[in-house]
Amino acid sequence: MGESDIKSRYRELVSLIEKYNYHYYALNEPLVDDAAYDDLMRELVELEKSHPELIKGDSPSRKVGGVAVSTFAEVRHDPPMQSLSNAFSEAELFDFHARIVKAIGDEDIEYSMELKYDGLAVELVYEKGVFVLGSTRGDGEVGEDVTANIAALKNIPKRLTGHDVPAYISVRGEIFMRHKEFERLNEERARNGETPFANPRNAAAGSLRQLDASITAQRNLDFAPYAVGRIEGIALPASQKDMFALLNFLGLPVKEYYAFGTINHARAFYTHWMEHRHALDFDIDGIVVKVSNFEYQRRLGSTSKAPRWATAWKFPAREALTVLESVDFQVGRTGVVTPVGNLSPINIGGVMVKRATLHNFDEIQRLGLRVGDTVKVKRAGDVIPKVIEVVKKSDSNEGDILPPEKCPSCKSPLAFEDIFVRCINPSCPAKKLEYLKFFVSKDGMDIEFFGPELVQRLYDAGKLSDISDVYRLTKEDLLGIERMGDKIAEKILASIDGRRKIGLAHFLRSLGIRNVGDHLAKVIARASGTLDRLMRMTQEELMAVREVGPGVADSVYEFFRSEGENLVREILSLGVEIQPEEEISSPGGDIAGKTFVFTGALQQFTREQAEELVEKLGGRAASSVSKKTDFVVAGEAAGSKLEKARALGVKVITEDEFIQMAGQNENR
Ligand code: NAD
Repeated sequence: MGESDIKSRYRELVSLIEKYNYHYYALNEPLVDDAAYDDLMRELVELEKSHPELIKGDSPSRKVGGVAVSTFAEVRHDPPMQSLSNAFSEAELFDFHARIVKAIGDEDIEYSMELKYDGLAVELVYEKGVFVLGSTRGDGEVGEDVTANIAALKNIPKRLTGHDVPAYISVRGEIFMRHKEFERLNEERARNGETPFANPRNAAAGSLRQLDASITAQRNLDFAPYAVGRIEGIALPASQKDMFALLNFLGLPVKEYYAFGTINHARAFYTHWMEHRHALDFDIDGIVVKVSNFEYQRRLGSTSKAPRWATAWKFPAREALTVLESVDFQVGRTGVVTPVGNLSPINIGGVMVKRATLHNFDEIQRLGLRVGDTVKVKRAGDVIPKVIEVVKKSDSNEGDILPPEKCPSCKSPLAFEDIFVRCINPSCPAKKLEYLKFFVSKDGMDIEFFGPELVQRLYDAGKLSDISDVYRLTKEDLLGIERMGDKIAEKILASIDGRRKIGLAHFLRSLGIRNVGDHLAKVIARASGTLDRLMRMTQEELMAVREVGPGVADSVYEFFRSEGENLVREILSLGVEIQPEEEISSPGGDIAGKTFVFTGALQQFTREQAEELVEKLGGRAASSVSKKTDFVVAGEAAGSKLEKARALGVKVITEDEFIQMAGQNENR
């Protein structure tokens, strides 16, 4: 690039970023993805590094991105509310650490590790313990007065608790919206003909920055405090650790997802949350790593935009834009025909994505999707990528996506049931194949080294056609498959043998009966006790089991009256033994009358679901640990509540133990 090209690219970047900032911060209607925005900002920073002469004092790289809109009164922040520097890789995190170690001289410096809540930053001022002023971050120096709106939020205390409240304290943190509330709000907006919010962050920002506080009051927003601006009347805490303790003590709704440790712990914290973030019922876009000691923070100071003692390590992007090229129809194990989109290949967070599920034909209609459209694709955890939005319609009038009339695999006519299109031919080859793949998979019998590809090959070779054939496989059958080694073949056979004695719940879940997943399989197995009894249960008897509704009762009943009965008899005749559901020893008796506190990330439930279950079984779910707590259920990365439980001698159980307790209680 020549000098003039560089200058014009620089100007272009500045004006683009400013435009995007305005749409994002002032209008809550971003024009581009965060990843695209971050790329532009990085390019700007790189250009500024190689051409420092270009930098203007008000470059977007040097100031906090927001603006205070004049429809709100102004609030001055003292000290300013800053942004955060970013790390996008492990190497960048360790660069950050190296800078800290150089300045402070402590290799093992303690960091506070926090979630990076994807919401908007606010400041709450309490005078003599009473909430008096709430404001947005704005441009960092001046924010918007949203006191009335914040006063309308039930998750924010209007009065601090404790006997030693400071004369003045400004608390900073993130206002965010949980997924459930986001879905509820968007459904309501769709019903009223209003445009839905693009994501929970925009919904939170849009809900808070309302001129009419009664609208904010109808939105359920949450608050995660993570900093103190200024404090008077009591001593400033000495570290981020003490600060969280103080905020907790004052009754502020500190979330328990934080930890303290070395830079290596920070790396583990990141990996953990990148894998488990979908278990949270709110969005996070990374973690924040902060030097915990406040004296060190003071020594490190800040740039015009961000403190030097903290950095945000962002997760890789999960969304990207691409074009829908064509649509295939896939038949699943229950016969449901799912439309799958073929995309122009696109890199999302380091993974090439070529296909995405379109779910069902209702969803296609809801999105207004046609072949040729530019779409937004989301990849979340290990879930199959999905098309979530049409961002630009194709110019062509063609490209309608209609359900096929015949099964793409066996060509038999399809049944239209509710929103599903289903192949009902019991011997449809695609269905059989998917069923086989499911049966041996982790969610089914969990047979080692038996992946979908091997199922396909054995099926093609005529060695597998029904699930009972799994138990007929010989070593010769396996060795007949290309690239199959002797050792692996033996391991597969050993794993199949290892599953010849199996618990009823595990067996039931592996049968892949419609609507019967892992949890319901356990519930039904415990209620029926033995396979014989289960196979004889009537619809009424099934419906009498807690949590079993008519849909589930029907599918279980039908399964054992149709192809299922023979299949099961075949499997039994091949030496498979189904063991009655074992009595599970309860770690502590009844749930009724007991108080539970959940902490850390649960795998099987959202926090709300677990709490609902406790309430349903006559127990009480509390949010903080006290002497009155009977059980603390500790999920992954449990934080301060776990420490407190241990300190108070409260019994701590795992999520699995809780599930066992709940299961036993439910079936009484
Ligand atoms: P940032 O979001 O990268 O980091 C700073 C902010 O993180 C803080 O102000 C605070 O609100 C938040 N935060 C969440 N949890 C925190 C915690 N535990 N401790 C401290 N802070 C925490 O910086 P920013 O300046 O607010 O925004 C820049 C980012 O916003 C960009 O990287 C981009 O992702 C997004 N953005 C997108 C667009 C767009 O058009 N899509 C435009 C502007 C900004």
